[in-house]
Amino acid sequence: MIPHWAGERDRMVERQLRARGIRDPRVLEAMGQIPREEFVPLQHRLSSYQDEPLPIGHGQTISQPYMTALMAQCLELAGGERVLDVGAGSGYHAAVLGALAAEVISVEIIPALAEQARSNLQRTGRGNNIRVVCGDGSEGFPEAAPYHGISVAAGAPETPQALLDQLADPGRLVIPVGTMGDQELWVITRRGGKTETRTAALCRFVPLRGYQGWR
Ligand code: SAH
Repeated sequence: MIPHWAGERDRMVERQLRARGIRDPRVLEAMGQIPREEFVPLQHRLSSYQDEPLPIGHGQTISQPYMTALMAQCLELAGGERVLDVGAGSGYHAAVLGALAAEVISVEIIPALAEQARSNLQRTGRGNNIRVVCGDGSEGFPEAAPYHGISVAAGAPETPQALLDQLADPGRLVIPVGTMGDQELWVITRRGGKTETRTAALCRFVPLRGYQGWR
């Protein structure tokens, strides 16, 4: 039987996102439209709308839908921003950010995954305002800085200074910080020269590699 993806997607938005407090209408709309199943490897495709992360190869995962929604909501995007996405993985999170902002740079350290993200975004017609770069995102991507929003989809031992340096004012940075096993999802807001940090959730991401990650 061929799954009814649109129905599964609607259910995911209602039960996993709206029921848990995701309120940003643009986030709900984007996640109600983007075909997550196209970003999940074939052997896991039937689980595309399950309430869990899924393997995407190379020991990496596509995040749980709720986590993607929460991170996107924390950036409070209005539509005109340039955003940096660290850890492209499948490209799904980049696609969500691409629907919410003007321009997305998505950095991925594993070449095969960067290629996969690129082809997933192209195939779904979501790639027009998204550039996937293969490199070490713990150092950001200074060529296109500053960014109004920065989203990091891998757990860091501390907030990389390079990302703070590349954050615009006003700007928001969302990043899991903690040990290799458990992190807090930090939302760092910069406004009027001041920087404030709050914790949005407890979480468990794969480790951020690279120079300012877990080396
Ligand atoms: N956002 C992804 C999920 C990513 S999982 C999605 O929607 O599918 C985290 C990703 O971060 C992995 O693909 C991993 O290879 C990548 N990663 C880890 N350290 C990195 C670094 N320093 N720079 C760029 N990508 C990194």
